[in-house]
Amino acid sequence: MENNIEKAAQILLRSEYSIAFTGAGISAESGIPPFRGEGGIWNMYNPEVLDIDYFMTHPAESWKVIRQLFYDYFAHALPNEAHLLLARMEKAGKMKAIITQNIDHLHQKAGSETVYAFHGDTSHLVCTSCMARYKFTEALLQQLPPFCEACGFFLKPDFVFFGEPIPAEAYNKSFQAASKARVVLVIGTTGEVMPAGMIPYTARQNGATIIEINTHRSAFTDEVSHIYLQGKAGEIMHQLGQTLKL
Ligand code: NAD
Repeated sequence: MENNIEKAAQILLRSEYSIAFTGAGISAESGIPPFRGEGGIWNMYNPEVLDIDYFMTHPAESWKVIRQLFYDYFAHALPNEAHLLLARMEKAGKMKAIITQNIDHLHQKAGSETVYAFHGDTSHLVCTSCMARYKFTEALLQQLPPFCEACGFFLKPDFVFFGEPIPAEAYNKSFQAASKARVVLVIGTTGEVMPAGMIPYTARQNGATIIEINTHRSAFTDEVSHIYLQGKAGEIMHQLGQTLKL
């Protein structure tokens, strides 16, 4: 493992265009459980509330769960060493962009600036009728569902629900970055959610080296990863940071 961390660090130091592709596993040490598997969110809650058709017909009921899960709970989470090292790498010119599937806004909280939120995030709400966007404040959730000041229709969180398309700008910028990347750090994702899961494949087809960090082997491990660092994201990134002297 030490040799692999050293190898990964050397590859990152030589690379002129590195990006990260992150999933729920990077936020596990911040206290946010992944969706699936042992301790996963969907063992405790019904995923139906994030189905767009269900939400549109049951907004008040869905919002009760959404508020509890994504606002009351996620709002208290803090970035961990993995988010923080990615932000330090960006400042040092060693990380050009982060493509995240997460909706928890923790990369931005850690100080990263170029973050493509592939599935949107909790930081804004959007009107389901006129598409007006609102920066999230507690006051907006005083009544559920929250309503749009402009047109009076109800709001939804500006992240992607089941049955919704990927936001075009995040999609395009993510795949452009993947095509340009010389190195991709893939952290804490099963690779099973599409089309996000295509990002490491696109990068590899264009010549990138793929370095994967995950506690368990994933869909990428045998197919696209050149280096697999097994372990918790925060712990592995701490060791990588020491080797990179960042
Ligand atoms: P997933 O829940 O399907 O898989 C999580 C992955 O992280 C697994 O491969 C697991 O082995 C790994 N993992 C767990 N703990 C880890 C740790 N401490 N360090 C490193 N790896 C660890 O997640 P996914 O593939 O990202 O996709 C599911 C979808 O659910 C995505 O769209 C994602 O946005 C969303 N999601 C987001 C959050 C969040 O915003 N924090 C939380 C749960 C799910």
